[in-house]
Amino acid sequence: MTDLYAVIGNPISQTKSPFIHGLYAKACGQDMAYTALEGPLGGFSGAVDAFRAAGGRGLNVTVPFKMDACAYATTLSERARLAGAVNALKFEGDQVWGENFDGMGLVRDVTHNLGIALRNKRVLLLGAGGAARGALLPFLHEQPASLTIVNRTLSKAVTLAAEVASQAQVTACGYVGLAGQAFDLVFNATSASLRGELPPVPATVFAPGCLAYELAYGKGLTPFLRLAKNAGAAPLADGVGMLAEQAAEAFLWWRGVRPDTRPVIAQLTVPLSGS
Ligand code: NDP
Repeated sequence: MTDLYAVIGNPISQTKSPFIHGLYAKACGQDMAYTALEGPLGGFSGAVDAFRAAGGRGLNVTVPFKMDACAYATTLSERARLAGAVNALKFEGDQVWGENFDGMGLVRDVTHNLGIALRNKRVLLLGAGGAARGALLPFLHEQPASLTIVNRTLSKAVTLAAEVASQAQVTACGYVGLAGQAFDLVFNATSASLRGELPPVPATVFAPGCLAYELAYGKGLTPFLRLAKNAGAAPLADGVGMLAEQAAEAFLWWRGVRPDTRPVIAQLTVPLSGS
């Protein structure tokens, strides 16, 4: 029997997940169907209950339901608990497992696809929303020399850093606190690029040979990447690899086999060109 999976969000028409999981299922010879569900705002639980009643085995969860999914799960991974957000659910009888693969996908893209280690590096994380929270534990697992969290609303960065206070290398500051500091890897985990905006980050944060990584994907040279490029950062990357890798982690979790992400990345990559 064909196993049923889906991604749930609102809106959902923009999602690439059915395309990605369709390719993975075909490449791995898995008998599964993967669709997109538009969950009603305020009606996440009911939509998931109905999906499970119809035999659904697992869900990817996207905006705005990641926190609802966190509450819906009966068992959370440590990553999901710290992120306060779930981007993948697995249903086994009455048990609902909640995971967050966004940060794992990001780290795998950087270390495996881009071939850049975080270990002993100075890492700057812009933003303290869901994506930044999800990245925190996977980043620390890589043992960077330092991890600096910066956010427009400083209190959120301070709270996030405090949650891993035992890790001495984590600090939080506001954008003005970045004056005079340089980093080896800079991640834009703000949503500024979705509106064509630039977080108020000084161009001096990019050390020579710095990786500038934009978590948003498919937007070409965003204002953040343009700033980084003009400051001499290289390489530049966007979140298409992260998207493919988090999907591969969920696929592995559900199906026990890890798909090759390269064909998906090749098909979804938008060149980072522009002046
Ligand atoms: P959230 O809404 O949870 O968080 C948004 C963050 O951006 C907050 O820290 C907010 O600061 C900050 N922010 C927004 N606008 C600005 C601005 N103009 N200047 C400075 N800071 C700003 O979003 P997510 O964490 O879910 O998503 C963040 C990014 O990550 C998005 O671009 C999203 O597309 C991308 N993403 C990519 C994925 C992938 O697979 N490639 C997966 C998940 C996310 P404040 O707290 O002050 O409001």
